[in-house]
Amino acid sequence: MITLFKHYPELKDSLPHISLGELPTPVERLAELGKSLGLHHLYIKRDDLSGRVYGGNKVRKLEFLLGRALQMKVKEVLTFGYAGSNHAVATALYANQVGLRTINMLLRQPNAHYVRKNLLMGQICNAELHQYPNVRSLKIATVYQLLRHKLEQGRFPQMIAPGGSSPVGSVGYVNAAFELKEQIEEGKTPPPDQIYVALGTGGTVVGLMLGLKATNVNSHIVAVRVTDERFGNMRRIGRLFHDTNSLLCSIDSSFRMFEFTDEDIQIRHDFFGPGYAHFTEEGMRAVDLLRDSEGIELEGTYTGKTFAALVHDARKGQLKDKTVLFWNTYNSRDYSDRTKAVEYQSLPQCFYCYFEEDVQDLDSS
Ligand SMILES: *Cc1c(COP(=O)(O)O)cnc(C)c1O
Repeated sequence: MITLFKHYPELKDSLPHISLGELPTPVERLAELGKSLGLHHLYIKRDDLSGRVYGGNKVRKLEFLLGRALQMKVKEVLTFGYAGSNHAVATALYANQVGLRTINMLLRQPNAHYVRKNLLMGQICNAELHQYPNVRSLKIATVYQLLRHKLEQGRFPQMIAPGGSSPVGSVGYVNAAFELKEQIEEGKTPPPDQIYVALGTGGTVVGLMLGLKATNVNSHIVAVRVTDERFGNMRRIGRLFHDTNSLLCSIDSSFRMFEFTDEDIQIRHDFFGPGYAHFTEEGMRAVDLLRDSEGIELEGTYTGKTFAALVHDARKGQLKDKTVLFWNTYNSRDYSDRTKAVEYQSLPQCFYCYFEEDVQDLDSS
């Protein structure tokens, strides 16, 4: 049973959940790298291993999001992202595994190898893939697709928020904090003073913050913003925090309401670079550093930028004597065997450009 439900049995009875992941994920000490950065207590939370076929931070959210979709007895889910979205592909994969079809409404993004892999994987998982030039046309097309699918299937698809960051999705990371608390009690890590985690649509950060409060772990969250400030800002985080807290409290009144203050979290804007999915020199150096020292693979859109912030702070001497946890949100399971078996020409034509045009300069791997 997941850790959150052990503490709140009423949630277990009323909050739909399906087990998709390999939980708990390991927490490991990075002793060598820590030493070279002057940190005595550097740890990593391996959410990259959260799924057998495909890990990363979306798995925990999907356990609740798809749990609800199944409870609603829909046949399809519809979600949003950029062309190479890890959320879109994770949804396609796990929805397919539980017998649901996925419709992905996607926006253009800078090219990278992972975009190709994720698009092919979406195709393999039988997702319906669409791409639009801007948010406005995507919104209009969403109305159209919802109606079209309702006419064809007799039911509206269940909508899933971008990044899975609705209150329901964020509960996955409330549980992750309970899991961490258990690992602290088991002596697998000291309580972290600082947790470095990527800030995209916010569900990960919000769920963690709420779960840490509920378990009395006083870690400070350093949220490294990797998407446009439209998505990653204090107001949105505060609102999602409140809505997630209200959801849990309304189901189980023994789950307290907590205050969210600006002091709970530090949002870092200085590692974003020129834009979403534009790799940065600093980010790619951080990717190389973790690969060379520990054999753990990050990427340039989210986790490289986040780890770069940690490395930067460590080198400035700001983390000395602190226990620092890097929360790895990126899938590290290799699924290239499966994607190798499909041709990009099987995708809708609007995606050919990612295969026919070069990837961005900093994407060497
Ligand atoms: C989606 C994603 C994030 C961002 O998580 P949010 O909950 O949207 O803030 C971070 N890292 C990776 C690898 C992701 O795919």
